[in-house]
Amino acid sequence: VIAIEGLTKSFGANQVLKGVDLSVGKGEVVAIIGPSGSGKTTLLRCINFLEEYDGGSIRIDGTEVGYRDGAGGRKRRNDRELAAIRVDAAMVFQQFNLFPHLTAAQNIMLGLMKSRGRSKAEARAIAEKWLARVGLAAKVDALPAQMSGGQQQRVGIARAVAMEPKVLLLDEITSALDPELVGEVLAVVQELASEGRTMILVTHEMAFAQEVADRVVFTDQGRIVIDAPPAQVFGEQPHERLRSFLSRFA
Ligand code: ATP
Repeated sequence: VIAIEGLTKSFGANQVLKGVDLSVGKGEVVAIIGPSGSGKTTLLRCINFLEEYDGGSIRIDGTEVGYRDGAGGRKRRNDRELAAIRVDAAMVFQQFNLFPHLTAAQNIMLGLMKSRGRSKAEARAIAEKWLARVGLAAKVDALPAQMSGGQQQRVGIARAVAMEPKVLLLDEITSALDPELVGEVLAVVQELASEGRTMILVTHEMAFAQEVADRVVFTDQGRIVIDAPPAQVFGEQPHERLRSFLSRFA
């Protein structure tokens, strides 16, 4: 589904991604771990072009994300093309990013009507279906402020998955939650993974990464250092920088 080659990205003089290669197949769940500042969030944001990349390429089902001919060609897509591509890669954010003045259902309906061409009634039905799936049937008409952080984040997940994206991008989606609310959100992700949805998740939950991911990618200083099945990554730990990173979670 996703093929990333030689991806580079700088903020001013700070080169955050220094040539990242990553491919993710259909139905695969890839967990990205690594120290703060290693470029994990930036990588996710490049995949749906919330961030423009400088070089290399990102293809979703063969289509270059932000530029017509790869970043080397440098012909940036127009907003309409970008909007079409963005629905293929839906993101869930650390801070939920729900619209505060819209109800749970309305938050989900908005994208369905604007980007998926759904009628209001269709969008409402899809929103209700997904809210029930994440255990929030009773909160359909609640505003974000009337929900706990865990509930808001489940709305965030429902909003992303309702778009039927080719890939779900989850950016540290439990980092802003009280510890007792983390489990309910991870359970939803676990269920989506078991349905064969393609996902890339940045996480600090090592036990969860081990359980849910088909592959774990360890990034350090803008590069992918390790890309391997969890048993290997969390097993012998032969790699020095990974060992020191993981020791912080012990
Ligand atoms: P964390 O685990 O702390 O979220 P991360 O691995 O996700 O870290 P990024 O958020 O991708 O790392 O940030 C990588 C680097 O890029 C950091 O040094 C950060 O300061 C810098 N950076 C990120 N976004 C911007 C921006 N919009 N402008 C300038 N610098 C930025």
